[in-house]
Amino acid sequence: MNQIIEKLKQEARNSWDGDVGEQRAQDLENYLVNKLEEYSTKLNVSKEALLISWEEDRSYSAINYYQEANQPSIKSDKVKVFETVEDFIKKVGKPEFRCPSCNGVSTNPYSCNSGEEMSKDKTCDWKVGGLFGDLGKGVYVFVKDQLKGETLFLPLSWED
Ligand SMILES: [Zn+2]
Repeated sequence: MNQIIEKLKQEARNSWDGDVGEQRAQDLENYLVNKLEEYSTKLNVSKEALLISWEEDRSYSAINYYQEANQPSIKSDKVKVFETVEDFIKKVGKPEFRCPSCNGVSTNPYSCNSGEEMSKDKTCDWKVGGLFGDLGKGVYVFVKDQLKGETLFLPLSWED
């Protein structure tokens, strides 16, 4: 695990010259150490397994990937933990999700297909993976047996 962290620190160091690069490497290490501690304690899974899973998932630079938006605090209300994908699907029930942008009902939890008209000839196609994400209205679902988490539109069945 330390080898992976060292490799990531080197990547951060290489992203900028001199002190700034060194600071980025240090910040990244602190972030990872704290996050892995929090997740592994709360979920009772090994830090190494978590880090390997994150690294498999990561498709862009470490300093952009290792951010609160991608690994939110597991204690926050926004995070829901499930043992398996089946448990999650059962808990959602009907596949209906609230689009954070148009407030319509989408059957796709990542990309709005509500058909709501946003302006003339433009229906909502909001994507949770876009620049503005879930506008703070979605949920972050973590599935333990996959060691994977992601942000989704809020299932209608979970609305208060
Ligand atoms: Zn929408």
